Amino acid sequence: RNGGGDGGEEERIFVSVRVRPLISQEIEKNDHSKWEIINNTTIILKSNTPDRSVVLPCAYTFDRVFGHNSDTRQVYEEGAKEVALSVVNGINSSIFAYGQTSSGKTYTMNGITVYTVEDIYEYIQKHEEREFILKFSAIEIYNEGVSDLLSSDSTPLRLLDDPERGTVVEKLTEVRVRDICHLEELLAFCEDQRQIGETSLNEASSRSHQILRLTIESSARHHDRDSSSSLAATVNFVDLAGSERASQTLSAGTKLKEGSHINRSLLTLGTVIRKLSKGRNTHVPYRDSKLTRILQNSLGGNARTAIICTMSPARIHDEQSRNTLLFASCAK
Ligand code: ADP
Ligand code: MG
Repeated sequence: RNGGGDGGEEERIFVSVRVRPLISQEIEKNDHSKWEIINNTTIILKSNTPDRSVVLPCAYTFDRVFGHNSDTRQVYEEGAKEVALSVVNGINSSIFAYGQTSSGKTYTMNGITVYTVEDIYEYIQKHEEREFILKFSAIEIYNEGVSDLLSSDSTPLRLLDDPERGTVVEKLTEVRVRDICHLEELLAFCEDQRQIGETSLNEASSRSHQILRLTIESSARHHDRDSSSSLAATVNFVDLAGSERASQTLSAGTKLKEGSHINRSLLTLGTVIRKLSKGRNTHVPYRDSKLTRILQNSLGGNARTAIICTMSPARIHDEQSRNTLLFASCAK
């Protein structure tokens, strides 16, 4: 199975883990790694004792585990592509990057977004018999406030319940994409917007969730006016707030409004994903946070989901890395 699902009856969430290389700050501090990827799907925390039986309880297994030898192209091909490209067949999907700050979420998600866009355009070129319309929008959730990354107006956006489309973000800019260059410009613009926020709001990216969404509509050019020949679906690229926010804020009590909200969106996402991975017939609390409300149509049901959990290999991050792997295990 690659990138999630084989079209079987029950779609599971495709869960991968990506361990980035040590970065210079970590190397300078003489940090090293106790993590070892023993095969494509299993990562272990090496024990100090030579007794392998002590090591085994610390093994974690996922759909895919990527180490420093894997580039983002490979992570995309094996961990996200199939889920992301289901959008051209009219199936909604979401790709998440989950992990602590500086673990590689943005690095990974930016690459995956670009590769997906390239493949979508390749697909469009190969299917001249159909006409495609692409629309792009970009959302940031900060402090449970929703804002439009494509608009200079910083008024928080409201979420509305539409009887047909489900939850919609009111007044969200939707840009009709002309071609791949236009889309790349839009991606670069969003990245700049986020960086401006980062300097003025002090590490805003570690506290906010970013959702880039691409909606694709297609219909047969030589219309037989058959409604089944029209398709529409959305793929969401979700760069989550740093997962350390979820655990820290729990112990800090009522310290920060900001913290507790981040906590809410991340914790609710965790609950939603856990419930979805356990199968049907349970109440899924989509409505408990802005993030899960916005993504409701692209999570669960017929939608496809892939999660890439990113982690640092450094020893100082072992505890956070273990939390990340526990989250990943619950999503399986
Ligand atoms: P996050 O978004 O989770 O806070 P970033 O994506 O900003 O983390 O990554 C933190 C740093 O690590 C950046 O300097 C980034 O370039 C680097 N980095 C992340 N993942 C990798 C990787 N797989 N290979 C090389 N460098 C990486
Ligand atoms: Mg980031």
